[in-house]
Amino acid sequence: MSPTPPSARQQIVHPRHADHWRAQIDLGLDRLQRRMAGMTGPSTGCPPTTAEALAGGVDLDRPLGDLGQALTELERVWLDDAVWFADPGYAAHLNPPVVAPALVADCLSTAMNTSMDTFDQSVGATFIERALVAWTASRIGWAQPAAPDGVFTSGGTQSNLQGLLLARDTAREAGVPLDRMRVLCSADAHFSVSTGARLLGLGADAVVAVPVDRRHRMDPDALAVSLDAVTEAGDVPIAVVATAGTTDFGAVDPLSEVARHARHHGAWLHVDAAYGGALLVSPRHRDRLAGIELADSVTVDFHKTWFQPVACSLLLVRDGDSLRHVAWHADYLNPPEGTDPHQVDKSLQTTRRFDALKVWLTLRVMGADQVGGLLDDLIDLAGRAHAALSTEYPDIEIAAPPELTTLVFRCHPLHSELGEPELTELNQEVRQRLYASGAAMVAATRVDGRQFLKLTLLNPLATLEDVLAIVDRACGAMAELTTELPRAHRSVEPAEVG
Ligand SMILES: *Cc1c(COP(=O)(O)O)cnc(C)c1O
Repeated sequence: MSPTPPSARQQIVHPRHADHWRAQIDLGLDRLQRRMAGMTGPSTGCPPTTAEALAGGVDLDRPLGDLGQALTELERVWLDDAVWFADPGYAAHLNPPVVAPALVADCLSTAMNTSMDTFDQSVGATFIERALVAWTASRIGWAQPAAPDGVFTSGGTQSNLQGLLLARDTAREAGVPLDRMRVLCSADAHFSVSTGARLLGLGADAVVAVPVDRRHRMDPDALAVSLDAVTEAGDVPIAVVATAGTTDFGAVDPLSEVARHARHHGAWLHVDAAYGGALLVSPRHRDRLAGIELADSVTVDFHKTWFQPVACSLLLVRDGDSLRHVAWHADYLNPPEGTDPHQVDKSLQTTRRFDALKVWLTLRVMGADQVGGLLDDLIDLAGRAHAALSTEYPDIEIAAPPELTTLVFRCHPLHSELGEPELTELNQEVRQRLYASGAAMVAATRVDGRQFLKLTLLNPLATLEDVLAIVDRACGAMAELTTELPRAHRSVEPAEVG
């Protein structure tokens, strides 16, 4: 005998139905906790075909009517194979495990369903967001008489887009034609710079890649040369994008020198600190961001090095007035004669989650030093992993010493005659085998056309032993493959001989 299912109205989150939704949340959390307790690795190695079949096998037109059953189904379709970033074997992308205060915040803001667009939908939330904007700006340390401002966004991609939009419209006001606008960034900058330029109508060719030095930082002399070349061609460098923490190497461009060149050419300086932004709260490494206060706009991703749930990013500007370029007034939302403070006036989004709350609650509970301390420990961990790999692993080739918390390496058997095509195949297969094993995950990337693998260390619970265990597994796969691969390449020979 099953209890009567709740009516549609009873599913509405309301104090009258508190017994219901609290029990439902408990049920969801129980399943989650049970799943987490049963984790034996970062993944189950589930291949795309299986994952597709699991979701595809659900008939969305036949509801189960009961959360318990729906959760059981969901465990099978998603949770059982979900990638688990808090597992010490996970070292692939820039995903952190999340901190508890942020999880509570996301639950509260979701339950209230607060939206950030207008004051009358958000009230205090508007000022919590504004306080965080001001606080982060104060960490950047813009010199007076700056009037910094900013807005939370869906991620670094959107923050970079908005920064470039402000640069474009500032140049447009100065009469620069769209087809003459050029954006300079390092060859290692994030692809969202090119995406942004295309979305803004500048075309992909508008982005000029500046060479990097051996540490993968933008070479300021090369930047000066590129800026001159752009000007000599009759084009206008409207923006320079410096990266503070490149996605692969964690390299921080020399911000002060880059700023000097950008200023000399009247170009907007955007600093993409999506990855390195948490250095703002680092007790030991804040100096690496020296010069960030010379930026016109800055991207900070809280959902990377600040251990916040996706999505949580911030675009900051030195001159709040520049945000007028995205302001648009609609009679039904934010009429021009209104006096209420509306965050929509500063945003590319309209309805928008209250993502600032998780940062707020994290800072109020843990404080900035604790968050930054976690990052500092991970920087140490990357350094110790590098030391171990470069001394104790002859078959591991390292692309460059770590700058933040990534380590780009590859399997390259000592004394082997493997060429680049074989090394590419070997490393891609090593990565695939790690994933399929369910015990470890690394990312893949290319450096100057050569295939590499990458450890991204964002799990404060991982020890050096855990990191080396991932590399040991990679070495194990390499050993298997180096006996298999040449055989595969020579597979026709025995028949010919016979
Ligand atoms: C991750 C990243 C981005 C993109 O940010 P999303 O939040 O993934 O949209 C941009 N720039 C850099 C340097 C990044 O590492």
